[in-house]
Amino acid sequence: MFTHDFIVIGGGAAGFFAALHAEGSVALLEKTAVLLSKVKISGGGRCNVTHACFDPKELIKNYPRGGKELLGPFHRFQPRDTIEWFESRGVQLKTEDDGRMFPVTDSSETIIQCLLNEAKKRGVDIQLRQRILQITKDADGFTIERKDLPPLRCRRLLLATGSSPEGFAWAESFGHTIQKPVPSLFTFNIPTSPLKDLSGIVIDPVVVTVGEFSQRGPLLITHFGFSGPAVLKLSAWAARLFAEKNYNIDITVNWLPDLSEDQIFDTLKFASQKPFPFPQNFWKAFAPLTSLHQTSHKVLRELSHRLHADTYHVEGKTTHKEEFVTCGGVTLKEVNFKTMESKLCPGLYFAGEILDIDGVTGGFNFQNAWTTGYIAGSAISEDQSRIH
Ligand SMILES: Cc1cc2nc3c(=O)[nH]c(=O)nc-3n(C[C@H](O)[C@H](O)[C@H](O)COP(=O)(O)OP(=O)(O)OC[C@H]3O[C@@H](n4cnc5c(N)ncnc54)[C@H](O)[C@@H]3O)c2cc1C
Repeated sequence: MFTHDFIVIGGGAAGFFAALHAEGSVALLEKTAVLLSKVKISGGGRCNVTHACFDPKELIKNYPRGGKELLGPFHRFQPRDTIEWFESRGVQLKTEDDGRMFPVTDSSETIIQCLLNEAKKRGVDIQLRQRILQITKDADGFTIERKDLPPLRCRRLLLATGSSPEGFAWAESFGHTIQKPVPSLFTFNIPTSPLKDLSGIVIDPVVVTVGEFSQRGPLLITHFGFSGPAVLKLSAWAARLFAEKNYNIDITVNWLPDLSEDQIFDTLKFASQKPFPFPQNFWKAFAPLTSLHQTSHKVLRELSHRLHADTYHVEGKTTHKEEFVTCGGVTLKEVNFKTMESKLCPGLYFAGEILDIDGVTGGFNFQNAWTTGYIAGSAISEDQSRIH
């Protein structure tokens, strides 16, 4: 006997979206006393729900891991669908200049209330403070043993436990391999940076490079080293490389990415003062030369080289408070992205950050949660209607 048709473990964005799109009797089990806790703190309390990028081919370029696999799912549920889903439930979203989308209320509480209302309407059986001791499978379905509570039985089970070690361990117990979890979306500590006193200055655009990875965009100089979109994107694409090097590695910054080194030299040769549109303080710290006219070509060559490929030694990282995510998780080739069902264990599904999928900052991580949750929930519904 089943207690439920479908059980979701994990009360985050992905678990909710799966539960809200499945038919039949649905339970959602959350370990803590709080639902949607990451939604609450996300985007500095404003919740960057998604990104205004509506072409799936463009959208997937924002996922250092999982882009290829998400192409099909994004043709079925993409940011436009997320916007419509929330708007049809009374939540208006707005787009900022950089494409990030937030509720017009600028409060993540709006998103939480919408999801909770919907769960109530659909009769999702939400159970908090769940201590799951063991999950086993037999020919019919899954049994979930809980501390001090009777076991639950279901035909289909979805793991949406984010980057929690328990979720990874359950996935492994059903035969899955886990790509080692390491942090993504962090800023660089550069204790030896001569630019630290210029904290707050943004140079846009720069190109930052580590190993084979390069990212272009604004760079923010901080008291600790470097931050800003180009740095966060690089931390995501090179997350594994940084982890392998224990966050001790050289990076180079091209402060004038639209000019070649020779073009920089030629400009310096014929200029008298600051020839580039840098803030005055930055230029002074960088090139404390009284007059470029009187400076030898050798020194100008060195300056051109530094402006083109300036090397810094990263020694450690700082967590970016607005948004961070885990690189790693359930190996993607073990999952069917038409349904989000495990290819190794029939009846087992995955959604959200438990998968080896992560996006750059800007709303892409929640979009992964909405899309994979939607695909899983819908697939379970279709299956359910075949059974009945
Ligand atoms: C500070 C911060 C800000 C962020 N801001 C943004 C943003 O603005 N935009 C964006 O796109 N992304 C943002 N992210 C990333 C985004 O929050 C995640 O990618 C997203 O929440 C993943 O959703 P999920 O449902 O897969 O996992 P989670 O949100 O992590 O949810 C997993 C749930 O499972 C529960 N759980 C874990 N283990 C168990 C267990 N053993 N039993 C039962 N339940 C369990 C957890 O308690 C949790 O409720 C942010 C992340 C952080 C940390």
